[in-house]
Amino acid sequence: MSDGIAIIGAGFTGLAAARDLARAGRRVTVYEAEAHVGGLGGAFQPAGGGDPVDRFYHHWFTSDQAIMTLIDELGLADAVTQEPSLTGVYFANRAYRLSTPLDLLRFPALPLIDRLRLGWMALRARRVTDWRALEGLTAEEWLRAMAGDRVYEVIWAPLLQGKFGAQASEISAVWIWNKLKLRGGSRSKDGAERLGYMRGSFARLAEALAADIRAHGGEIRLNAPVTGLAPEGEGWRIDGPWGTARAGKVIATLAPPLVARMVEGWAAPEAVRKLDRIGYLANLCLVLELDRPLGATYWLNVNDPDFPFVGVIEHTNFQPAAQYGGRHIVYLSRYLPKDDPLYALSDGAVLDYALPHLGRMFPAFRRSWVMGHHVWRARWAQPVVERQYSRLIPDAEGPGEGLYLCSMAQIYPEDRGTNYAVRAGRQIAARLLSAG
Ligand SMILES: Cc1cc2nc3c(=O)[nH]c(=O)nc-3n(C[C@H](O)[C@H](O)[C@H](O)COP(=O)(O)OP(=O)(O)OC[C@H]3O[C@@H](n4cnc5c(N)ncnc54)[C@H](O)[C@@H]3O)c2cc1C
Repeated sequence: MSDGIAIIGAGFTGLAAARDLARAGRRVTVYEAEAHVGGLGGAFQPAGGGDPVDRFYHHWFTSDQAIMTLIDELGLADAVTQEPSLTGVYFANRAYRLSTPLDLLRFPALPLIDRLRLGWMALRARRVTDWRALEGLTAEEWLRAMAGDRVYEVIWAPLLQGKFGAQASEISAVWIWNKLKLRGGSRSKDGAERLGYMRGSFARLAEALAADIRAHGGEIRLNAPVTGLAPEGEGWRIDGPWGTARAGKVIATLAPPLVARMVEGWAAPEAVRKLDRIGYLANLCLVLELDRPLGATYWLNVNDPDFPFVGVIEHTNFQPAAQYGGRHIVYLSRYLPKDDPLYALSDGAVLDYALPHLGRMFPAFRRSWVMGHHVWRARWAQPVVERQYSRLIPDAEGPGEGLYLCSMAQIYPEDRGTNYAVRAGRQIAARLLSAG
């Protein structure tokens, strides 16, 4: 029997938990399947040189307190920039700026009465304090009731469809309420939204966490996937292709269906079913390195059902292109079920598929602008937050004593995000520490 703590997954949840435990003098080992730390917040080196680029676009809201506290503790506050976000929406073959309340008032795709209803709705949403009152409603039901059918069809239906596809009609009102609250809370007095970023990518923060864990005696094992987990004596046996290890307690930060596969040999069938009940969408991100800017917007929501990506995110309209060797970094993002044919296409085929659509949206765009491309896929990218989601969430105490679950599927009523990953990781660490 070992008194050490094993943490499965070196994303922000696992790293935040490991750091607090290691600093409190606990013997911590983090097992990570990939060759890098940071999980979904990992980065890659672009061909054009300069700073690493996030595999999946990332920013923070000004209300993201937990991660800002951690950044302060790590002495990295100077690396965080706060920039006005240039957001827009692509609708009926045109891109519209939609960053401030004034932009909304001018938004020509809706009649004035609907623009006012949309603005009023955003304000009312921020005043909802008891999210439980929304749990029984779908996002569609709530949004239609709040702002009417036309606003729903033009603004919300394409976004929900783009993000959740066939499951859009099941998404909880709580999920969209939280998004509205978050975006409203990240605005300055003039109504302009400000977003935060870490110079050098989010992976820089993950690496700083990893360094601090190691400095306090913790171990991080990369390329070390865990395939089996079983109670043994008063602790746990952890198996992987790398061998077998033992720990007194385990924190699993993976998607609950992955934990289900690890424990199904010995855990109660009902507990396994509960872990499997959480649906997840995958994400595919095509990252382009361009020799010039594509447009003038950072975050372009796509409200055009014929465009097969939910957003075009031009990172270098948020951070300076000079940081990436002068190249302009653009993400095309698509959430999709893991068996969607697009998810299985080769990187080159994804590029060939995407570029004609991009050319339709930006008529001046030419393929010759593309200096490099990268395709990133995440199988466990977004939990499907259904109605009455609070009843589905697996408990933090897993199917065996001393096994704890701390995953993005358990973040609620907020949606996943690095801020909440850090908050959850630190909370589970505090729980283990207070248990002795
Ligand atoms: C497209 C996209 C955009 C996003 N944008 C933002 C944003 O703008 N701002 C923001 O704050 N958040 C954003 N997020 C969310 C954010 O990335 C996540 O909430 C956060 O990184 C989750 O951290 P985690 O540690 O809980 O999970 P993960 O990052 O998923 O970490 C889990 C880790 O477990 C490892 N693992 C899996 N299986 C095994 C195994 N069997 N054995 C060992 N290790 C294993 C994985 O490799 C991974 O490293 C975005 C996510 C996506 C997909």
